[in-house]
Amino acid sequence: LFNKYQELKGNIRVMCRVRPMLGPGDGEGAKITFPDDKTWAEIAVQGAEEMSSLGKVTRKNFNFEFDRVFAPGAANQDVFDEISQLVQSALDGYNVCIFCYGQTGSGKTHTMSSRDGMIPRATHMIYETISKLKEKSWTYTMEGSFIEVYNEELHDLLSPHGRESAGSAAGAGQQAKKLEIRHDEARKQTTVTNCKTVELDSADKVEAMLEQASANRAVAATKSNERSSRSHSVFILKLVGHNKATGERCEGTLNLVDLAGSERLKQSGAEGERMKETQSINKSLACLGDVIEALGRGSGHVPYRNSKLTHLLQYSLGGNSKTLMFVMVSPLEVHLKETLTSLRFATKVHNT
Ligand code: ADP
Ligand code: MG
Repeated sequence: LFNKYQELKGNIRVMCRVRPMLGPGDGEGAKITFPDDKTWAEIAVQGAEEMSSLGKVTRKNFNFEFDRVFAPGAANQDVFDEISQLVQSALDGYNVCIFCYGQTGSGKTHTMSSRDGMIPRATHMIYETISKLKEKSWTYTMEGSFIEVYNEELHDLLSPHGRESAGSAAGAGQQAKKLEIRHDEARKQTTVTNCKTVELDSADKVEAMLEQASANRAVAATKSNERSSRSHSVFILKLVGHNKATGERCEGTLNLVDLAGSERLKQSGAEGERMKETQSINKSLACLGDVIEALGRGSGHVPYRNSKLTHLLQYSLGGNSKTLMFVMVSPLEVHLKETLTSLRFATKVHNT
């Protein structure tokens, strides 16, 4: 087809991005360096505290290697350049999943769902490609949906009730209809009941969709960030192409996932409802790691059903699909411990 995507190593890739300091009020920077500025595949974290089982604190240096690292100076354009071929492969009929993983404040939403993030860039590039493919008799339809996974429940970010149903039980007003995952095992396709899909045939529609979704996204206060995101948001773009001249048909899906903050329970000072949120988040992030690991090992059983997120993405993870995880980290000294935890998680995913 149009784009022959080059296989790198297997179908799972991991990239790391360090956000820049946000000005003088941001705090003290950690010692994060990039030892090899030719390959841009390594990141080093210096002077991280480690406590031994006897309670002795030592400072250590850690090195990590990924498919690509982005230093704080990198722009969203640089990040997009690295993933544009992967995005194109959805037009060739692949199922593609791109995740942003990291603690709250590490730059996930900036990278994925902001006005200049991967979602608008990806859809824009897809328009351009589709218009070129018209000359080769291909026509495409693009259908988008935007789902939030909050406390192991699905909510529609494109329906006006999305926010009410995502909030606390108190005063939920009109109850939105429950969203449920339906798998068509024969065709390896997923639909979500009661979920709005929009025909995304212009950049304006994408922008309007992003605005609505971000207004509907559940946010709650935690100690680590005032508007901490406590839910996963999943943008699903279904692409169906048809060639009038040859009769060929091809169907691909692009899933762009802005994951909930990966920070640890005790750091958020969580109780009650917050505790439930955090447990749901921990469980689903761990399950995502387990699923990717199982796929990498090629073992028979993949535990998709252990979380709503992996269940939803079942047919876009594994098999003939392509997965990319961005691990986002903060440049701050106070976040060093979380940074190490994130980099270790990403290393586990990368080494499968
Ligand atoms: P998260 O979604 O992981 O909680 P955000 O994307 O909201 O984090 O980023 C936290 C803050 O840092 C925001 O104010 C965001 O605009 C800013 N930020 C994140 N990454 C970058 C970047 N690469 N360049 C400039 N500002 C950034
Ligand atoms: Mg966010």
